[in-house]
Amino acid sequence: MSGVIQRVGVLTSGGDAPGMNAAVRAVVRKGIFHGLNVFGINRGYEGLIHGEIHEMSIGSVADIVLRGGTVLKTARSEEMKTLAGQQKALAQLRKLEIDALVVIGGDGSFRGAQTLAAQGVQLVGVPGTIDNDIAGTELTIGFDTAVNTVVDAVGKIRDTASSHERTFIVEVMGRNCGNIALQAGLACGAESILVPEIPYDLDEISDKLKRGHQRGKNHSIILVAEGVGSAYKIGEELHARSGFETRITVLGHLQRGGNPSALDAVIAAAMGGKAIEIILAGETNRMTAYIDQTVISRPLEDAYGNRRPLNRELYDLANELSI
Ligand code: ATP
Repeated sequence: MSGVIQRVGVLTSGGDAPGMNAAVRAVVRKGIFHGLNVFGINRGYEGLIHGEIHEMSIGSVADIVLRGGTVLKTARSEEMKTLAGQQKALAQLRKLEIDALVVIGGDGSFRGAQTLAAQGVQLVGVPGTIDNDIAGTELTIGFDTAVNTVVDAVGKIRDTASSHERTFIVEVMGRNCGNIALQAGLACGAESILVPEIPYDLDEISDKLKRGHQRGKNHSIILVAEGVGSAYKIGEELHARSGFETRITVLGHLQRGGNPSALDAVIAAAMGGKAIEIILAGETNRMTAYIDQTVISRPLEDAYGNRRPLNRELYDLANELSI
């Protein structure tokens, strides 16, 4: 323990993700356990800039460990992207003598964090986003829950799809990355998975649907990551090519909600705890990462530059299994 850091802030930023609360709880409780004063910052950087900061107690994080969303609220802050905004954020931390900050969020949140680290704030990033698109960690908090939510929803859609003998196109989250579509699609045996990282061929998909039909298949499920384009348009084009009726379901924000899975809650607790360890060790500009089933500390900059690439092997396997 450095003996210098006394006051630690924690905020959640970017899109909310199931498990963020478990991470906040771990930061607060482990911080207090080690004699730190922990301050919750509401509404991400927006709240930081406007001084929405309050001290957290052991009781303030009671009953949240398995609750979805984030009790600290989250926001997107355009102001934080400006130098003036970053200076305001820094001034708020200085005013309360908060020397260390834990930022729970995605890639963008880490970029905001880095601007504060550059000004001398002891900074730890905790990857929390349902997209699982952050380089340097095998899992981000919220991804496992979101995948399970999609699998559950697709199971229900499959019931009606098979009753009506239809092709269902299910749009899932993922503007720039197809991890949710891929993982959920493989888990539930989707006939096709469309991701932004890999071009698709509607004629091929249509042929696959026809082959399946000839084999006696009475329904098909196609998972589409939102970044690929409009599921409705894809549905129309597939209908024109294959002749099969298509129905579209856009799962939308229900993928963000819900209690975290046990895996997410465990990872979140371990990452929140690790963030405090990093702070106590006097390290800065670090992130927590889940590698080989262990939560480790690594340089925050490992998250930059590259997005976590799509697992091409899994993608190819999903195609092979859905011939
Ligand atoms: P998700 O992956 O769930 O969308 P995210 O953290 O990537 O989460 P963003 O909206 O990209 O979400 O970023 C969250 C916030 O981080 C932004 O609203 C902004 O306040 C801050 N931020 C993003 N990029 C920068 C940057 N380059 N400089 C400073 N702050 C930034």
